[in-house]
Amino acid sequence: MIIAVDGPAASGKGTLARRIARELGYAYLDTGKLYRAVGMTVLRRGGDPSDAVAAESAARALDPDMLEDPELSGDEAALAASKVSAIPAVRAVLLEMQRTFAAQSPGAVLDGRDIGTVVCPHADIKLYVIASDEIRAQRRHKELLDRGKASIYARVLQDLKERDARDSGRSVAPMKPAEDATVLDTTRLDAEAAFAAAMDLISAAAARAGGLAGQ
Ligand code: C5P
Repeated sequence: MIIAVDGPAASGKGTLARRIARELGYAYLDTGKLYRAVGMTVLRRGGDPSDAVAAESAARALDPDMLEDPELSGDEAALAASKVSAIPAVRAVLLEMQRTFAAQSPGAVLDGRDIGTVVCPHADIKLYVIASDEIRAQRRHKELLDRGKASIYARVLQDLKERDARDSGRSVAPMKPAEDATVLDTTRLDAEAAFAAAMDLISAAAARAGGLAGQ
C-alpha cells in the first residue's frame, strides 16, 4: 500500500503524512529532506546548488544519517533544495531511492512534490494538499517564531511564492496534482480536521480496493 501526499511548501502535507503513517503503522519518508540534504551538501562543499555536476555528485554521496541534521529544516536548505531539485541528474539519483522505500510492506507514506506523478504513479491513494499563500506563510512564520528564529511575514510570503514558482515551473517533474489525486484544501482546516478529512478519503479508497494492508 502506497500513499502519496504532494503539495506546495507549508501546505501542511508533512504533518499530515507523518500522522497518516503513524496511524496506519506504515513507513514514512519526507522526500523534501533528500533534496535539502543534497543542497546542504553542495553548500558545505563550497559549491553552487545550481551547478549540475556539483549537485549530482552530492546526490550520489547522500548519507542517510544526514537526514536527521536539524539544519535541513532551515531556509538556507530549502532554497538550496529548490535549486538542486531542478537538475534532472539529481532527480534520477533520488528516484530509485524513493521507489525502493515506497515498496516496503505493509505500506509507506511519502510526501513531496512529484510522488503521485513521477515517483509512484501507481500509488493506491494520492492526496494533493493545498492552502492559500497567506495561510501557508502565516503557518511558516509562526513556526519560525515558535522555534525562536527571526522572521518577517512579508519575506516568508515572498520566499514561498518564489519557491512555488520554481517548483511548478521546472521542466522535470514539476509540482502539480496527479490527474487521479484528491485535492485537500487545508486553508480553513486545522491539523486535526485535515487528518480526519484525509483518513475519510483513505478509508473510502481502501474500502473500494478491499481493505487497508497491515490493518
Ligand atoms: O518539502 P520541502 O519544503 O522540504 O522541499 C524542499 C524542496 O525540495 C522543494 O521546494 C522542492 O524544490 C524540492 N522537492 C522536490 N520534489 C520532492 C520533494 C521536494 O523537488 N518530491
